[in-house]
Amino acid sequence: MTAQPSTPDLSTTPVATLKGVGPKLAEKLANIHIHTVLDLLFHLPLRYQDRTRITPIAALRHGLEGVIEGEVMGSAVVFGKRRSLLVKVQDRTGILSLRFFHFSAAQKNALVDGVRIRCFGEGRWGKSGLELYHPEYEIISGSTKALDENLTPIYPTTDGLHQARLRAMAEQALSLLEKSQALPDLLPEALSNELQFISLAEALRYLHRPPVDAVLSQLQDGTHPAQSRLAFEELLANYLCLRRLREQANQHSAPAFNGTDKLATALMASLPFALTKAQQRVGQEIARDMARPTPMLRLVQGDVGSGKTLVAVIAALQAVEHGYQAAIMAPTEILAEQHYLNLDTLLRPLGLNVAYLSGKIKGKAREEVMQNMSSGQAQIIVGTHALFQDEVAFAKLGLIVVDEQHRFGVHQRLALREKGNQDNSYPHQLIMTATPIPRTLTMSAYADLDCSIIDELPPGRTPINTILSQDTRRAEIIDRIHAACREGKQAYWVCTLIEESEALQAQAAEATYAELQDALQDIKIGLIHGRQKPKDKADIMQAFKAGNIQLLIATTVIEVGVDVPNASLMVIENPERLGLAQLHQLRGRVGRGSQESHCVLLYKTPLSDVAKQRLSIMRQSNDGFFIAEEDLKIRGPGEVLGTRQTGIMEFKLADLLRDAHLQPKIKLWSEQIRTHQPELIEPLIKRWLAGSEQYGHV
Ligand code: ADP
Ligand code: MG
Repeated sequence: MTAQPSTPDLSTTPVATLKGVGPKLAEKLANIHIHTVLDLLFHLPLRYQDRTRITPIAALRHGLEGVIEGEVMGSAVVFGKRRSLLVKVQDRTGILSLRFFHFSAAQKNALVDGVRIRCFGEGRWGKSGLELYHPEYEIISGSTKALDENLTPIYPTTDGLHQARLRAMAEQALSLLEKSQALPDLLPEALSNELQFISLAEALRYLHRPPVDAVLSQLQDGTHPAQSRLAFEELLANYLCLRRLREQANQHSAPAFNGTDKLATALMASLPFALTKAQQRVGQEIARDMARPTPMLRLVQGDVGSGKTLVAVIAALQAVEHGYQAAIMAPTEILAEQHYLNLDTLLRPLGLNVAYLSGKIKGKAREEVMQNMSSGQAQIIVGTHALFQDEVAFAKLGLIVVDEQHRFGVHQRLALREKGNQDNSYPHQLIMTATPIPRTLTMSAYADLDCSIIDELPPGRTPINTILSQDTRRAEIIDRIHAACREGKQAYWVCTLIEESEALQAQAAEATYAELQDALQDIKIGLIHGRQKPKDKADIMQAFKAGNIQLLIATTVIEVGVDVPNASLMVIENPERLGLAQLHQLRGRVGRGSQESHCVLLYKTPLSDVAKQRLSIMRQSNDGFFIAEEDLKIRGPGEVLGTRQTGIMEFKLADLLRDAHLQPKIKLWSEQIRTHQPELIEPLIKRWLAGSEQYGHV
C-alpha cells in the first residue's frame, strides 16, 4: 500500500511542483482549496461543453450551448438600453446574431460581410431572434484549430484563473497519474468486484477528459458510474471517520450539568409565550445529554422559524448555572450580530453577561471582549468562527452551540472539538441546522451525532404564498415589487446563479441591481453579495432592517438566518438552478412578520418536467422536511443539483442527495472494513479528509 520512494505520493505533492505554477498561481489555487496534485485531480469539472462538432444554426436553441460555423451577413452597432454590436451569421440551415456589449474598433472592422467564423456560445432569445452574447469566436483561416477531441471540461474557478490554465494543469496531473502506484486503489477487491467499480485513477481520467461518446446528461446529473465510484469512496471514508470520531468522543470526559433549571425558568417567565411541545422534548433530550460526564454531540434539526435559538439558549443557561461558559457560533457576521442583540435583550434582565466577538471587532474593544472571555466574566459569548481562533481563550467553556452552520463537514467538526478541550475535559456540543435532510441520510451524514428534531412551528404563523412565474413576466413582477415598496413593504430580489465563481455571481447581482435601479428610480435599492467587505454587508443589512433600503438585491449570502420581519416579498431568479433545501432556506427570510408574505420563483424557460415538478413542491409546501423527502424522490435524470450546492455537508465530490442510493452499501462495507480490514481506514481517511490541520487529532 505504501508508495515506493520513486513514485510521488500525489496526496502530498504540492501543486507548485507542476510546470508553470508559481507562487502567485499557487495562492489562487489555495483559494479554491487546491494544495496538492491530488486536490487538483479531485477538482472535477462543474460541467462539460461539447465542442467536438458543429451544431447547425437551426438546431441551436435558447439555453443550449454549441459550436456554430457560418458567414457574416451584415453587422451594425445598435443603440438600445446599451450600445451593442450585432453581427448576423448564416449557415446552410439558418441565421442568428452575435451580440457584443463590449467591442473594439478592430473587432468591428474584422467582422464584415463574407468573413467565415466559428463561434461557441449559449443561444438566447433576444430582440433579433436567436442570439449569442459575447461568444468565443475565431475567424476561419488556414490555421484554424481542429475541434476538440474530448468533451471540454469547465472547472469551478476563482478570480483570474482561467479555464485554459486549469485544463493545462489537469493535463499534467493526469499524466502523473499514469505512474503506477501514484494513486493506489484502497477499496477492498471484493467491494470493487461486487459494485463493478473501475479504479480510482481510471475514474478520474474519465471525468477530466470524457470521450465524445460519454453520456453528457449522465455526467451533468452526476450519475455516471465513474462519478458514483468516486462518491462511494469519499462517503465511505467520511463515514469511517465519523464513526471513529464518535468512539473517541465517548472516551472523553465533560462537565456534568445536573441543574435546577433556575435560569431557564426565569427566562421563560419573562417571555410572552410558552415552549412548543417539540421544543420541550428536544430541550429534555439535550438536558439529559448534558447531565452526563461525557461530551454531548447532538444535532438539532428544525425547520426555519421553529424556534431553535430558544432551545440553544436554554441549554446555554444550563452551563451558565454551573459556573461554565457557553459559546454560540453563527456562520456569518450578520447572523451573529443579530443573535447577540437578541440574547443580550433576553438575558441582561436576568443579570447575565453576554459578549460578542467577530472579526469585525478590533483594537481595544476586541481586547476587552477577550479579557472578559478569559476571566470568565462573559458567560455567554456569541460570535462568528472568530470565537475559535488560536488567540481566543475561554475561562471555562462548558457548551459550544453551532447555529445554522452552513458548511459543517467533518473538518469543521474536528476543529471545533479540539478548540474547547481544556485539561482533557471537552465541552458539550450542540449543532443546529435548518436544512432538513431525509432521515436516512441524517444517519449517515451525521454518524457521529445524536439527532433531535423540532417538528413543529410555534402557533400563529401565516404560510408564505409561493408563486411560480416565467421570466417572460419579469416586467410585470418588477411592477408588483414597485407597487409594494411604495406601500411601505420591503422586498428581497435574489440572484441565484450557479456559476464557476463567486465573482460571476456578484456580477449577476450587480447587473440586476443596475437594471432595477434604472427601472425603479423612486425606490431605495441596496445590493449585498459575498464579495463585499464584512462591514459593508453589515451596514447594508442594518439599513435594510431600519427600513432605509426598500428593495435588497442579494445573492444567496442572505440565505441563512437573516431576520427582517417587515420584509414580506421575495423574488428568486433562476430558482431551478438551486436545490430545494436551499430555496426553502431562502424563502424562509420572508414570512417572519404578521403580514402575509409572497415568494415569486422567477424561472427561466424552457423548464424540464422534473424541474417543474420540483418547483411546484415549493408551491405546495412550507414544510422543510416534506420538501427534502420529495426532492429526494423526484430527483431524476436531468437534475444537476443537490446538497453539494446547498452545502449541507462539504464533500469534495460526493453529494448526499444525489448519491443517496449508495448509502446502504456504504454502511455495509464500512462495517466489513472495520472488522476485516481495519488497516484500510487510516489511508482512506487520509486520502479524503486530510489537508486540514486538525487531521492530526483524528
Ligand atoms: P429558527 O429555528 O429558524 O432559528 P428562531 O429561533 O429564530 O427560529 O425563532 C423564530 C421566531 O419564533 C423568533 O422570533 C422567536 O422568538 C419565536 N419563537 C420561538 N419559540 C417560540 C414559541 N414557542 N412560541 C412563539 N414564538 C416562538
Ligand atoms: Mg435560527
